Amino acid sequence: DLLTSSRGDSASVQVALRIRPQGNREKLDGSKVCTSVIPNEPQVTIGGDRSFTYDNVFDTLAEQTEVYEKCIDKLVEGTFDGFNATVLAYGQTGSGKTYTMGTAFDAGNIPEELIGVVPRAVYHVFRRIGELRAEAADKGIVPPTFDVSVQFIELYNEEILDLLSDDRTSSANIRIHEDVQKNEIYLHGCANRLVSDAHQTLEVLKNGALNRTVAATNMNEQSSRSHAIFTMQIRQQRVAVHGESASSGETELEILTAKFHFVDLAGSERLKRTGATGDRAKEGISINCGLLALGNVISALGGASGKVSHVPYRDSKLTRLLQDSLGGNSRTLMIACVSPSDSDFVETLNTMKYANRAK
Ligand code: ADP
Ligand code: MG
Repeated sequence: DLLTSSRGDSASVQVALRIRPQGNREKLDGSKVCTSVIPNEPQVTIGGDRSFTYDNVFDTLAEQTEVYEKCIDKLVEGTFDGFNATVLAYGQTGSGKTYTMGTAFDAGNIPEELIGVVPRAVYHVFRRIGELRAEAADKGIVPPTFDVSVQFIELYNEEILDLLSDDRTSSANIRIHEDVQKNEIYLHGCANRLVSDAHQTLEVLKNGALNRTVAATNMNEQSSRSHAIFTMQIRQQRVAVHGESASSGETELEILTAKFHFVDLAGSERLKRTGATGDRAKEGISINCGLLALGNVISALGGASGKVSHVPYRDSKLTRLLQDSLGGNSRTLMIACVSPSDSDFVETLNTMKYANRAK
């Protein structure tokens, strides 16, 4: 049947590791590359003697297209069958999370091959909608209709900020609401924009990205101390045909909905390394609380298959928000981003271990 066949043999939590190339600064500073990958094997070795295996490993030269095709494409296809999906980019500041996710939203101004996951997914969704409608029309069936809407929020110090609202005070009224019966999570008081094409969607997101809170740390001026969550909801209404043909068979209206979360997580680096004090330190603590809870949730889900005991969703806003899209019938992909340089050895090893728990 549709449900099992489209789920395939894939586990509900997949983990990919992506190693970015060394930047000029690192080369000038004489940093050596401490990671190695055997081509076509999903295994990485760090420092010559510690190896980890993931569902996918992308070495420094892997292109955006390859990451999308191997990891994201099938998740987007799944949303058209009603499966929720979540993609999370994890890693220290400067490891390539935003580059991978494409959440800087410069898609209009960069070469096609550099475009990241989110804009690619947006183009994919609208291309697929066009195809599905054309296919139905060709078969003489009433074409399906689609409502696509987006939300874009930031989680900062366990507070939810609506990036699509110009009125920053309205964020105080946002609440996470759970519909226990449907096992669905909603955000009350958060803008939900209906979008009708890829271009419009990317414009909405670009404006949202400009609203992101950016606080400088010693580590990286652009360092992002918050989680950015972009959510696309697809509601599909189609005529399900039972019987010989559209004309003689019984028809009935079928509604499928799916949510796709794209999460550009806060930097995973240890607090002391960024030299954070005062407010910065407070941010660091609650960021770690979200990442810690996420690690626990994902490892509970990924553990002994089918034997999920207690999944601690309630330990942070991040996991609470993603509750209906992690585990269950949802597909989750964590992309762990790392630097190849020996100067980042400790953080890279931490990320590899964190990602290893998620399998
Ligand atoms: P993060 O969001 O984790 O802080 P960024 O995505 O901003 O990190 O990446 C840090 C820097 O490295 C940026 O200048 C980015 O363009 C570059 N970079 C990251 N990943 C890659 C990659 N796979 N190929 C080329 N450059 C990359
Ligand atoms: Mg970033």
